[in-house]
Amino acid sequence: MLNQRFNPQIRAAQGAILSIGAPLGWLLIRMFQGAAPIDELSANIGLYSYMLLGTSLSFSLFGWYVGRKESLVTLLALRDALTGLYNIRYFRERLEQEVLSAQRENTSLVIISFDIDHFKMINDNYGHPVGDEVLKEISLAANKVVRKHEVLARVGGEEFAVLQPRCQLEAGTQTAERIRAEIAAAFVQIRSGKKVAVTVSLGITKLRAGDDDKSFLERADAALYQAKKAGRDRVIVG
Ligand code: GH3
Ligand code: MG
Ligand code: MG
Repeated sequence: MLNQRFNPQIRAAQGAILSIGAPLGWLLIRMFQGAAPIDELSANIGLYSYMLLGTSLSFSLFGWYVGRKESLVTLLALRDALTGLYNIRYFRERLEQEVLSAQRENTSLVIISFDIDHFKMINDNYGHPVGDEVLKEISLAANKVVRKHEVLARVGGEEFAVLQPRCQLEAGTQTAERIRAEIAAAFVQIRSGKKVAVTVSLGITKLRAGDDDKSFLERADAALYQAKKAGRDRVIVG
C-alpha cells in the first residue's frame, strides 16, 4: 500500500504510449486492404501525424486527470476522516517498516502512545459532537509539536500514537511533554460560552534489541497505562 504510487505523470505517460494504437490500427486496416506500409505512410503523413498527436494529447490529459484522482484516493485512504491525521492502517504499516529499518541501519526509534483522560465524561457531560471537536482540537495541538518526518496517527477512538524515526529517548520524551502541555493549554469553546479543558496521558519507549513492532508498541501502551494509574496528565517512560 505505502509503496503503491499512482501519480499523474505516470498515468499521462501511459496515455501517451497507448495513443500509438490509433495510427497503428489504421495502418493495419490499410495493410489488410492491400496498401504498402511505407507508401501509405508517406502519402498520408498529415493524417497519421494528426491521429498520433490528437490521441496522445487527449490520452495524456485523461491519464493525468485519472492519476490525480488516484493520488487523492490513496491519500484519503491513509487519513482519518475526523481529524485528518494518519489512520491506524497507515500507522501499522509505517511502524513495521520503521522497526525493520531502525534494526537494519542500527538507528534509534521512539514511539509515543497517548490517550485522552476521562474522555467518556466529556461525551457524557457535553455530548458527542463536543467530544468530536475535542478530538479535532487535540489533533491540531499535537500536530503543532510533531515534526514533518515523524508520524502522528489516530490509532483508536481517542487514542493516538507518534512514531519518531532517528530520535533518542530524551528528545522523544521532550516531544511527549510538549504534546502534553500543548493539549492541556488548548480549549474547546462550546455554545454556552463555556470552555472545555482536556488532558492526555502518554507512554513513551524506544526500540530495544530483540523488539518487534508488537513488543515495541506494547511497551509504550504499558507505559501509558502506568501514566493513567499514576494520576493522568503525565508522561511515563517505559
Ligand atoms: P481514561 O482516562 O481511563 O482513558 O478514561 P476514558 O473515559 O477516556 O476512557 P474510556 O475508554 O472509558 O472511554 C473512551 C470514550 O471515547 C468512549 C467513547 O464513547 C469515546 N469515543 C471513542 N471514539 C469517539 C469519537 O470518535 N467521538 C467521540 N465523541 N467519542 C469517542
Ligand atoms: Mg482509551
Ligand atoms: Mg481515554
